[in-house]
Amino acid sequence: MTAPLTHPSPNFGDRRGDAPISLVVLHYTAMSSAQVSLARLCDPAAEVSAHYLIGEEGDLCSLVAEEARAWHAGAGRWGDVTDVNSASIGIELQNDGASPYPEAQMAALEGLLGDLLARHGLPPEAVIAHSDLAPGRKSDPGPRFDWRRLAQRGRAVWPTARAQGDFLSDARAFGYTADVEPEAILTAFRHRFRPGATGPVSPEDAALAADLAARFPVDVSAPGA
Ligand SMILES: [Zn+2]
Repeated sequence: MTAPLTHPSPNFGDRRGDAPISLVVLHYTAMSSAQVSLARLCDPAAEVSAHYLIGEEGDLCSLVAEEARAWHAGAGRWGDVTDVNSASIGIELQNDGASPYPEAQMAALEGLLGDLLARHGLPPEAVIAHSDLAPGRKSDPGPRFDWRRLAQRGRAVWPTARAQGDFLSDARAFGYTADVEPEAILTAFRHRFRPGATGPVSPEDAALAADLAARFPVDVSAPGA
């Protein structure tokens, strides 16, 4: 990324290790306005940041250079990635945590994701939710976020039901390797793929997880670690 940052944040460091960028993590800000979010993402005392912030009208702010390690993911795991900040690009979507995502914001996100996936040579399954890597601790971008739409445009993946296997092992094979209770995995999975679903694991959950595990198996060198 050579374009100048539009609103530089001091909250970043060097990426650790030599692993390439392999993930793009989507967040909601859970704050009242983009101005408030921007102030927090640039406040040294807050110690949080992201590479990009997209406002509700589709306005795109770049805060941290893509080469640098922004502070958005925190503790968590996806596949065999344990230092997610070092292996990812973080995108914050301005959203209060409960409202739908406006069309202009989704369009801007799709444009940015198309650019990022192309430049970093990433497949659509590289785009994940903060809740995917930190089940039980985080729930963003939340059940109002339209993952199906993103997948229809090649910017994420969406499952089609197939013969069900074991929900938990299939969810882990797709990438849900965080060391948390199975209930937290189920909740994160439903936030993304079955918004509104409740109760114990159902045949529908298992049928969708089976498809994700078959089509998008994550590279895990130390399963369950
Ligand atoms: Zn987040």
